[in-house]
Amino acid sequence: MQLHPDVEKVLISEEDIFNKCKELGKRISTDYEGKTPILIGLLKGAVPFMAELMKHITCSMEIDFLDVSSYVGTRSTGKVNIRRDIVTDVKNRDILFVEDIIDTGLTLSEVMKEFRNRHVRSMEVITLVDKPEGRTVDDVNPKYIGYNIPNKFVVGFGLDYNEMYRNLPYIGILKKSVYEK
Ligand code: 5GP
Repeated sequence: MQLHPDVEKVLISEEDIFNKCKELGKRISTDYEGKTPILIGLLKGAVPFMAELMKHITCSMEIDFLDVSSYVGTRSTGKVNIRRDIVTDVKNRDILFVEDIIDTGLTLSEVMKEFRNRHVRSMEVITLVDKPEGRTVDDVNPKYIGYNIPNKFVVGFGLDYNEMYRNLPYIGILKKSVYEK
């Protein structure tokens, strides 16, 4: 597969992502055996990850999507607001938030605060990519992590830069020249 001209290098290949989704799906299937968790994907970035992951989950499950905004360009604004809420009643349900990437953790920290008020039975987080160096909150500790990566801005497999590059089948590091233009 040809590398996109704006991408410096591939960090996580398509094949690696597929195998990781398989592995994570297996773990989730075991952990939630006999339960029906609701996977809540955070739009838009989590869509490809959620789609791949759920194919490997064998226990019964439901999905829903939440749209929150927090980022403009490549830096966190630290402000989160719910643009589109889920439609499922989550009271007494097992919730699994599905994230593409966690950096500061501010987005999920705010989302989880909100969901605690909705009296869920359990709440866990799965993220394809984690950037632990970027963390500024201490209440976001994902139970399932695909990859830990250094504090670099990455795109692809759902991750965007100004809405572009979400369609790349791999996760790559964007050339600095693209966002320093
Ligand atoms: P946090 O609130 O944890 O700082 O940020 C979470 C959100 O920021 C992610 O869902 C994603 O939209 C965006 N984000 C954080 N780091 C990156 C990155 O390296 N690349 C891209 N494309 N988005 C990122």
